[in-house]
Amino acid sequence: MKIKRLLIRIGLLLVVLAITAGVLYLIYLRPFMNHMMVMETVHPDPQLTLVTGGGGNSGILTSDSAVLVVDTKMNKGATAFYEEVKKIAGNKPIIIVNTHIHSDHAKGNALYKGATIIAGARYDKEQWASENGPGTLPGVWVSDSLILHLGDETVTILNLGFDAHTQSDVVVYLHNRQLLFTGDLVLNQQSPALFGRYCSSGRGYLAAFDTMESRFAIKTVVPGHGPIGGRDVIDTYRTFFQDMYVAALDHEKKPQLLTKYNTWWQIPFMMSPDATISYIEKEKQK
Ligand SMILES: [Zn+2]
Repeated sequence: MKIKRLLIRIGLLLVVLAITAGVLYLIYLRPFMNHMMVMETVHPDPQLTLVTGGGGNSGILTSDSAVLVVDTKMNKGATAFYEEVKKIAGNKPIIIVNTHIHSDHAKGNALYKGATIIAGARYDKEQWASENGPGTLPGVWVSDSLILHLGDETVTILNLGFDAHTQSDVVVYLHNRQLLFTGDLVLNQQSPALFGRYCSSGRGYLAAFDTMESRFAIKTVVPGHGPIGGRDVIDTYRTFFQDMYVAALDHEKKPQLLTKYNTWWQIPFMMSPDATISYIEKEKQK
């Protein structure tokens, strides 16, 4: 009799969990994924194309000698973006830079047979392959920085050298255009995704904002996700992290600080101001 009651309770609990997961999926995850996959293309000048959405935000910089691609998106977004790149590149060699290991930025690599693929040096190759699949592994690993000359543009690929969004984030800076691709170190109107298995670090984010702003004169910011903007996109993200540190220390201020970011895209327990606070609280205990 007791066992029967226990089984009924477990069954009910499973039903409640399944309903909760379904509701979270319908209210948060599905709208978020749909929003993330919407693509928009802008041409700031004849040599530069920026494509937001379809996964992470991307860029295509063309020159007479080669074409640089920053992040290759995922799934349908990757295929549509690849078509765009092929139209622009023709038979020119393609150089890809992945800002980091995550599949929304690097899964599309598999489409670019023969391309040179560049990423930060401190990734585990097995982790890269299991995240992105076969044919996506970079051939050039940057541990400090790499400078490329493409037409009249000088491009710096800088490995931050410390854990921030992941264990080996790189940013890509176009000197003449004063434009910075930040990868997911900076998002616009969206909470960060922080994961222990990728060594995410709140302290690292704060250090990354300082590194980016002290190393580069920045006019345009292409964040990892969300609309392209100016340097203020970085400053807003710094304020977000500072606010989350205050909220982690001072629980009275927490509700008011959370309200500031109500309109940002978020997924509860995973990618939200609350999840950020929990993560930095755990990080502080280390
Ligand atoms: Zn991303």
